[in-house]
Amino acid sequence: MSTHLCNECDSPGDGNCPVCHGIGRLPGDSVSGSIDDLGGGISCSACGGNGECQSCEGSGEIEFGGEG
Ligand SMILES: [Zn+2]
Ligand SMILES: [Zn+2]
Repeated sequence: MSTHLCNECDSPGDGNCPVCHGIGRLPGDSVSGSIDDLGGGISCSACGGNGECQSCEGSGEIEFGGEG
């Protein structure tokens, strides 16, 4: 079984969601400059708010040749 770096990550192999860059939230309609505060921004729909790349489930690598 082999693996290769996931190219769907924010940076290849880092396991972070490319949409929210691993933060798990997006600025959305908020006018606030900070998304660090809870309630600021919206949950990232791409990763469900966990900040993980959905292609590799945050592992940063993808198995290939395996059984799906
Ligand atoms: Zn990935
Ligand atoms: Zn995300």
